[in-house]
Amino acid sequence: MTYEELQTKHGDTIGFESANCSGWYHIEDKMYDRVKAVLDKYSIPRQIFHLAQEKEKFGELRTYWGWSLDNETEDCPDSALSAAYTEIEAVISAAETESANTCHLCGDAATFQSTGWILPYCQVCAKKRSDYPGAFCPMR
Ligand SMILES: [Zn+2]
Repeated sequence: MTYEELQTKHGDTIGFESANCSGWYHIEDKMYDRVKAVLDKYSIPRQIFHLAQEKEKFGELRTYWGWSLDNETEDCPDSALSAAYTEIEAVISAAETESANTCHLCGDAATFQSTGWILPYCQVCAKKRSDYPGAFCPMR
């Protein structure tokens, strides 16, 4: 999946953002799909889900979000918002874990981690770097 495809499919999400790691677009796609499924399950309007920030940090996806609460939420029972919150947090946590074990460049399984600026790499992508192998360590 390309960034353009990701943006076309999920760009209507309030605050849509990508960590801009090409190997992780499919993980972000799945995450956005799952978030939308949770919202639909609880009949929560999609514009209430507000993505505050999506980025790479310490070698994994980090997603910050919250409810954009206004009058519209009168239609959403607190119990639905609370249950959906828990499920969305689980979706985001799963995406973080998957990204940490996925090459951020090509999407293959990561076997190496760069030191310094921590990022997951597969062996092929790591070996393309001029600082390989010195600046890499095996995945923990
Ligand atoms: Zn790779």
